[in-house]
Amino acid sequence: MPKAYRYRLYPNAAQADLLNRHFGSVRYLYNWALAKKTQAYQTENKALSRYDIQRELPNLKGEQQWLKEINSQALQSALLNLDSAYTRFFREKKGFPRFKSKKDSRHSFQCPQNVKVDFSTSTIQLPKIGKVKAVLSREFVGTIKTVTVSKSATGKVFASVLVETTDVLPAKSAPNQALAVGIDVGLKDFATLSTGEAIANPRFLKKSLKKLRRLSRQHSKKQKGSSNRNKSRVRLARQHERVSNQRTDFLHKVSTRIVRENQTVCVESLNISGLLKNTKLSRAIADVSWGSFVSMLEYKCEWQGKNLVKIGRFEPSSKLCTCGTLNHALTLKDRVWTCSACGTTHNRDLLAANNIVRFAFQKQNLIGVDSPESALVETAVR
Ligand SMILES: [Zn+2]
Repeated sequence: MPKAYRYRLYPNAAQADLLNRHFGSVRYLYNWALAKKTQAYQTENKALSRYDIQRELPNLKGEQQWLKEINSQALQSALLNLDSAYTRFFREKKGFPRFKSKKDSRHSFQCPQNVKVDFSTSTIQLPKIGKVKAVLSREFVGTIKTVTVSKSATGKVFASVLVETTDVLPAKSAPNQALAVGIDVGLKDFATLSTGEAIANPRFLKKSLKKLRRLSRQHSKKQKGSSNRNKSRVRLARQHERVSNQRTDFLHKVSTRIVRENQTVCVESLNISGLLKNTKLSRAIADVSWGSFVSMLEYKCEWQGKNLVKIGRFEPSSKLCTCGTLNHALTLKDRVWTCSACGTTHNRDLLAANNIVRFAFQKQNLIGVDSPESALVETAVR
């Protein structure tokens, strides 16, 4: 089973310089190849393959001698990434590959081979860079498949190590409604469980978000190119990182507990990208990070032999009374409603959570049960 481990790296000055050259060169090559492909298509109506481009690499290295100091496999990975970006564009109609910029918030390169993680000396050996100090918080047993080295906006360097582990997934028992929990994603609360438990967004996260908004406002007022603007950019990036770390910790805690306590977890597969077009809700929905929460639930269920059942995204879960009456008039701000047919009063979030379990089992809409597509989620380590 493949698993990903993420470690913080502490390069010395010479290594930091080499790392920066790798980030820069990989970006250069990606942009060079993208320009080449685009030009060939526009002027000759020709689609250049990765191999067409790879064949020109020795020439390019002749012209740009500094490319020879870069791990050649990291360079080839950049071409592979460009290929995947093209595939996504044509197959999934995702955006056309864009040029990478020095100003991007994240820089990365990949090492598909010759990386050694040494737990006894707390180092990761990278080709052309050498043994870099690292905090190896979690040990693994298995074969390293590929390593992605990345640098965040605040200058922290990480290595994400993808490992083919020898771990065997535990066997699952069939989903059991009596042992199942339904989760309704909320805007006011983070989530409501069918057990009646409401999980609020933690206070520290709200506080950090408030600070993030303030810093972001301040930043936008600073004059472009000024040193004050650069300072505020770093402050803003730091706060972004803090919020995202706090949020990830929170999501890990909640998802771990829910998977441990239940045999089957039922969720709605919300159309997050569709919802994000509504700008008023977008902030709140992005904040509650439903997407990453569901993927955590998915892989944790796989690892622990539990079931995750996803139901379709357009089920009227908060509007449907247990008697079968649908309350068409329910709006987002109605937290409680009374059924006109049977007189039952519902808390909309709790009703939704219960309905999610009901739909999951009644309709046998078991999309998520046997799909271990989720195993590749990074474990949170800093
Ligand atoms: Zn009713």
